[in-house]
Amino acid sequence: MKKKPMIVLASVFMMFSAFSCGGGSKTSSANEQNEKVVVNVPQFDADSAYLYVKNQVDFGPRVPNTKEHVACGNYLAEQLEAFGAQVTNQYADLIAYDGTLLKARNIIGSYKPESKKRIALFAHWDTRPWADNDADSKNHHTPILGANDGASGVGALLEIARLVNKQQPELGIDIILLDAEDYGAPQFYEGKHKEEFWCLGSQYWARHSHVQGYNARFGILLDMVGGEGSVFMKEGYSEDFAPDINKKVWKAAKKLGYGKTFMDGNGGLVTDDHLFINRLARIKTIDIIPTSPDGDFTPTWHTVNDTMDHIDKNTLKAVGQTVLEVIYNEK
Ligand SMILES: [Zn+2]
Repeated sequence: MKKKPMIVLASVFMMFSAFSCGGGSKTSSANEQNEKVVVNVPQFDADSAYLYVKNQVDFGPRVPNTKEHVACGNYLAEQLEAFGAQVTNQYADLIAYDGTLLKARNIIGSYKPESKKRIALFAHWDTRPWADNDADSKNHHTPILGANDGASGVGALLEIARLVNKQQPELGIDIILLDAEDYGAPQFYEGKHKEEFWCLGSQYWARHSHVQGYNARFGILLDMVGGEGSVFMKEGYSEDFAPDINKKVWKAAKKLGYGKTFMDGNGGLVTDDHLFINRLARIKTIDIIPTSPDGDFTPTWHTVNDTMDHIDKNTLKAVGQTVLEVIYNEK
């Protein structure tokens, strides 16, 4: 994914500083305390999620058209099946920015497929073919391991699938693992850059949903949700298309005591899968993605350092538990 370079970054920096100095407020309102509908929300196990992240990274980079990509795709589909989901594999030939034909596979695991009331949870499972943001230009053509950029969101969703299988929430849940998100033109490419070069798997899914006439009440995309010390602010397109969902998620995080991880504030615009899901599938979808004052999301973003060494179980826990809180409270 790509962040729009823009002036907003300056204000993000200011907000970031202001919030860092102020610290997280933990006062829960009287309203929240009165809403005592008892819902049994399962406990997100960060050790388990961490293992699912590592299992993906152990395949090596998961770049479309490689055997590691095929092997990891099989692992993910098997894992969702083992967790009791109805699995749909959506295979597609997609054309990359340079004309390369990508053999892509979106993998969808559905719970209560008969239910019309649904929530869609998304993450991309492919990894970037180039560490084109690495400080050392010798690494720019090296594929990244994508522990955070790819595997973390998928790992969190696998843990959610495991829990949903044990105790179903009221709504049907779709775990939608998208391919070919991160094949956007590299920084060293001299041709024209377009946002449509990114997020090829989600664009395909949004145009050809896995079930005819598919709809969901809302969607949540998880991208880079395992970085050490990551902070999440409300991403701009999410705020444009689905401000109520942002509000719901940030409120749940605050209630759980994760107000320092989910900070109020404008995270800037990010070209990511949710943009095309909002635009093309018209399912209101937010992106939980880290904000950093320098615009690089995390220090490891698109570098050879995106490894398990920089995955933090506390971040996985904050995001995973918050998503569970939201989906189990939906009626
Ligand atoms: Zn990426």
